Amino acid sequence: MSDNCAASSLAQIDLDALRSNLNFVKSQVGDRPILAVVKANAYGHGAVQVARCLAQGPVRISFFGVAFLEEAIALRDGGVTTPVLLLTGASREQIPEIIQYRLTPVVYNMAFLAALSQAAVRRRQRVNIHLKVDTGMGRLGIAPSDALSFMEKTVGLKGICVEGILTHFAYAGLEDSAYTSGQLVLFQSVVDHLYKKGIHPSYIHIANSAAVVAFQSAYLNLVRPGLMLYGYAPLKGVFSVSLKPVMQVKTRVIALKKVPADTSISYGRTFVTKRESHIATVSIGYADGYPCSLSNRGMMIAKGRLVPVAGRVCMDMTMLDVSEVPSLAVGDWVTVIGAEGDQSVWADRLSEWANTHPYEILCGIGARVQRQYI
Ligand SMILES: *Cc1c(COP(=O)(O)O)cnc(C)c1O
Repeated sequence: MSDNCAASSLAQIDLDALRSNLNFVKSQVGDRPILAVVKANAYGHGAVQVARCLAQGPVRISFFGVAFLEEAIALRDGGVTTPVLLLTGASREQIPEIIQYRLTPVVYNMAFLAALSQAAVRRRQRVNIHLKVDTGMGRLGIAPSDALSFMEKTVGLKGICVEGILTHFAYAGLEDSAYTSGQLVLFQSVVDHLYKKGIHPSYIHIANSAAVVAFQSAYLNLVRPGLMLYGYAPLKGVFSVSLKPVMQVKTRVIALKKVPADTSISYGRTFVTKRESHIATVSIGYADGYPCSLSNRGMMIAKGRLVPVAGRVCMDMTMLDVSEVPSLAVGDWVTVIGAEGDQSVWADRLSEWANTHPYEILCGIGARVQRQYI
């Protein structure tokens, strides 16, 4: 780690692990096209670097998926030429850029679509779109009962090609299998209606990571994994051996002190030493994505040993009780997410302590944490 003397905290991104996780997706889904979800800076891993790595093959990526236009433009500016799906859709003001950057919006609004068609005709271009149907997420998409008439209007619009139709599961971990299956059945009935009217979009998709892992009949003809590419199965315990966490986060000890019993540590004095203690201050805080909810709950790994967070997590720093690790020195690296010796704290474990899910932990790793690609 000596090559990064200046960094306070580091996120090491293992691109081999990333490729290995994609291979696992491929081994599950066979020849079906894959949309790799790289929204939210590729779940904190660095969208451009992740997309470039995945685009190199050998497993073919048919689309990258992002939430917002800015994310898509960043991929294009970073040299990514693969089709990019705007999962959250887009606004009318963004139409010129959608056309300029050859992006594929998800669509669920006729006024937007009409404006997109006009703009495409004016520029003598065709824009691909994917129509979103809401089968039970309650977030984005047209009602299943409106899908046929919406689609019939859409196929009549010049300059527009309906390349896909999608919906999204409400249970990211498929926790309620009856509800999840109901969504799939409803989606398939919408698609059947379209088929009967002679409308055949190329891509029909619903499968998130959990479905790729455990719900084969939801593969349809495109899958959209996100979390699993980064090494985590959204289903607790299941298959996690096949996936490799991609990101490790390390931070540095910036101060160390020996304090007597009855010394309070950090804001609000929620931690008071019971004995003479060694307290390390490390340079990661909630502004870097180490949640406040880990105050007096989280653990890091120092010299191969688990050490508890002492007191409240601060904005830029966190204190650790390192009384059991006397050899620790200022400047040493401590593992925040990752494995060291026979100890490990991966994002799923951290998220349980923090009462959240690994998605939020990974996306939350802040901009001050320097990314290093290995
Ligand atoms: C984020 C997202 C995904 C990926 O979900 P994972 O659970 O991370 O695999 C798929 N589809 C849509 C529409 C999304 O927004």
